[in-house]
Amino acid sequence: MSSTPSADARRDEVAAGLARVRERIATACATAGRRPEEVTLTVVTKYFPPSDVALLADLGVTDVGENKHQEAADKRPEVPQPLRWHFIGGLQSNKAAAVTRWADVVESVDRIKLVGRLAGGAAEREAPLDVLVQVSLDPPGAAGRAGAAPADVPALAEAIATAGTLRLRGVMGVAPLGEDPAAAFARLADVAAEVRRDHPDATWVSAGMSGDLEQAIAAGATHVRVGSAVLGPRPVIK
Ligand SMILES: *Cc1c(COP(=O)(O)O)cnc(C)c1O
Repeated sequence: MSSTPSADARRDEVAAGLARVRERIATACATAGRRPEEVTLTVVTKYFPPSDVALLADLGVTDVGENKHQEAADKRPEVPQPLRWHFIGGLQSNKAAAVTRWADVVESVDRIKLVGRLAGGAAEREAPLDVLVQVSLDPPGAAGRAGAAPADVPALAEAIATAGTLRLRGVMGVAPLGEDPAAAFARLADVAAEVRRDHPDATWVSAGMSGDLEQAIAAGATHVRVGSAVLGPRPVIK
């Protein structure tokens, strides 16, 4: 179908990156005694063009992740293939309702204030919006990092679960720089287990990126968010 040499070359490049990452996931699952079907690959397509997202869909990818509202809102209509679109970026309160118009999953809910905004936006949808609580894995008091403090997660999860138009699916976390990711993902697994005690259906654990997906899978991740290992270095935008 590709009509130009550069489109063919890009397809080969993306197919090769995808094959390498799927192999890493399979190996990590085998090492952890888990089945590869337990882990969903979400390819992080931020900064990459709609043509790359369409390529991924043609190569069998089911889930993609974006971290900027406007970029994703513009991109989604240009990709005709059915995909599940995840919002994984920092969420401003005044954008939360608008995100529900293109996102199928919002992974980055880290404060109560977002819940009402998302629930209001999701009321316009046919199906409830899937939501994860983003848990901070940083040392207590670390400045400027996203995520709810672990102690605040149960109340946030409860607010999501009772909002009506939102479906609490689980938790998400990003391992902090400068720490063994295995230790951070172990803390996330503990928080995930606590959430599941109150909400047995909230089984998703989104953890692991290009550099640490093996440690995340060992710690029980059900979703890995991988960008550069599949698509190459991100293009610089503006
Ligand atoms: C960009 C991003 C990723 C993917 O990072 P890579 O290192 O390119 O795999 C995963 N999760 C979040 C929250 C991101 O912002």
